[in-house]
Amino acid sequence: MRLTIVGCAGSYAGPDSPASSYLLEAEHEGGTYRIVMDMGSGALGALQRHVDPREVDAVVLSHLHPDHCIDLCGFFVFSKYHPGGALDPIPVWGPDDTADYMARAHGPDAGSGMGDQFDFRPWRADEPVVLGPFTVTPVLVDHPVQAYALKVQAGDATLVYSGDTGPTEALAATAQGADVLLCEASFVESQENPPNLHLTGAEAGEYARRCGVGRLLVTHVPAWTDRDEVGRDVATTFDGAWTLVEAGQVYEL
Ligand SMILES: [Zn+2]
Ligand SMILES: [Zn+2]
Repeated sequence: MRLTIVGCAGSYAGPDSPASSYLLEAEHEGGTYRIVMDMGSGALGALQRHVDPREVDAVVLSHLHPDHCIDLCGFFVFSKYHPGGALDPIPVWGPDDTADYMARAHGPDAGSGMGDQFDFRPWRADEPVVLGPFTVTPVLVDHPVQAYALKVQAGDATLVYSGDTGPTEALAATAQGADVLLCEASFVESQENPPNLHLTGAEAGEYARRCGVGRLLVTHVPAWTDRDEVGRDVATTFDGAWTLVEAGQVYEL
């Protein structure tokens, strides 16, 4: 499995990165199968540096905050009006009201919705979904809207993506033994942080340590937050392999 960090800025697009979006690729039936995992603000632009969006086979969404899904509106336009002809519909997995949310976000031009281009399908918590060579399992986490961590398996490789979440044992249970934990760290330990919303670097590191993951990839640091402080927080709880990810990076697992 190949993971490309399309965007990793937390909460809104930053000067150096779009908001959350990750390209997952794995070989499948003599070709490459491609999933875009979250498509936050600015992601569609940066995605084109890595792949022709016509080559995207499926989209999976952790939750319906704009920094994780709003560029699906642009992708709808790309898909419907491409000069080479409208693209075939692709599956878009997400929370229960993804189709309605995206149609409202796009506005009346979406007509009867985005159903011509996107085959919207709701996650069922803990029920795995097979997409080409990938098996994606959604696990409910702790955030103000219906939000999922996503466990992604292909071949022998396992990636667990936290999505957005406050501290929750559901994430610890899911990340056990993962090759990579792609974990949000939006908050810093030096502040008073609201509950049920996000993690700090120290909390991300603690999950990585408890779960014995092969590598911790720290993401979703907002542009208003000091990345060095997030990194110092991670180092207080985790002495394994970890990286504060940047847009454009590629990881093989
Ligand atoms: Zn977010
Ligand atoms: Zn969120």
